Amino acid sequence: MDTLTARLAEVDERIVDAARRAGRDPGALTRIVVTKFHPTALVEELYALGVRDAGENRQQELSAKAHELAALADLRWHFIGQAQTNKARAIRSAAFAVHSVDRARIADALDAAAEPGDDALDVLVQINLTDDPGRGGVVARDAPALAEHIAGCSTLRLRGVMAVAPLDEEPASAFERLAAYAAEVRTVDPDATWISAGMTADFAEAIAAGATHLRIGSAITGPRPVRG
Ligand SMILES: *Cc1c(COP(=O)(O)O)cnc(C)c1O
Repeated sequence: MDTLTARLAEVDERIVDAARRAGRDPGALTRIVVTKFHPTALVEELYALGVRDAGENRQQELSAKAHELAALADLRWHFIGQAQTNKARAIRSAAFAVHSVDRARIADALDAAAEPGDDALDVLVQINLTDDPGRGGVVARDAPALAEHIAGCSTLRLRGVMAVAPLDEEPASAFERLAAYAAEVRTVDPDATWISAGMTADFAEAIAAGATHLRIGSAITGPRPVRG
């Protein structure tokens, strides 16, 4: 087995183990492979290994890869990075889901970017689990209002919440808080069942706390190439 195959298999085993320990169905989890900074060729290799969900955090890279790999029609791109309103059309045309909606202006821009015939776009409310306003995400107490706003956008479909664990808190307790915020967002729309959480360092804790969508990069892809 080459190393990519082996790393993917190992991560998938760890996902299954964590799900079983939590009494959850591993088949209900979506493992998104975060391919940022890696070449398109790596995404093609992952696709050949059965990966159908890939994540990118920069619009330009998302657009370029989605364009190059347009022939892989069932590959789903998840946008997980800070979105800029003037890039909403580009994000919308490349992404299957946007995990990182953290203000009404972004929701409005994505909504306005719909073209006739577009499917509704799946979006998540990104919640900031830190006290640092510089980190991405809406302040938790404002998440329900943002969810309401999204629910009022006719071309967006509210799917749930997304977060990154803080550096200075145990991921397990941070993800417990996220689960509570997710429940508040579900009062806005009971179909908003996604919890996008868990990266290379903390996906087992995220699964234990109810994550449905894992965003795993380096454990599968290997270290990211340095970008200047
Ligand atoms: C890069 C990134 C990931 C994946 O990180 P790894 O630690 O490599 O697994 C997940 N989520 C977001 C938002 C990211 O930017």
